[in-house]
Amino acid sequence: MSKPKHPDMSAAMDPQGPVQALVVRQYPEWKCEQCGEIYPDNEVLKGANPFDEADIITGCPNCKSIDSFVRVCDEPECQFEATCGWPSADGYRQTCSRHRIADIR
Ligand SMILES: [Zn+2]
Ligand SMILES: [Zn+2]
Repeated sequence: MSKPKHPDMSAAMDPQGPVQALVVRQYPEWKCEQCGEIYPDNEVLKGANPFDEADIITGCPNCKSIDSFVRVCDEPECQFEATCGWPSADGYRQTCSRHRIADIR
């Protein structure tokens, strides 16, 4: 016995183009507090913590500091540390205090 394929899968597909165009960083960027260099997430060195296998530690490609990164504000041209997480109209954002402006009156 073989099950017939249900034909209703394609009917559910309804592409509507891009959902939204964000002007924030697509990926988090990280700033080394030791040397000040900023790296995209995929350039940060990562490895298992030798003292705790469930943990991941990060390393700076420039100065080799361990776990020295802070998240950078998601405003594209901003290099301040993201110290605020807040819901915006475009989704959850993490910015520095200067860019935490939307919806605050
Ligand atoms: Zn560094
Ligand atoms: Zn900022």
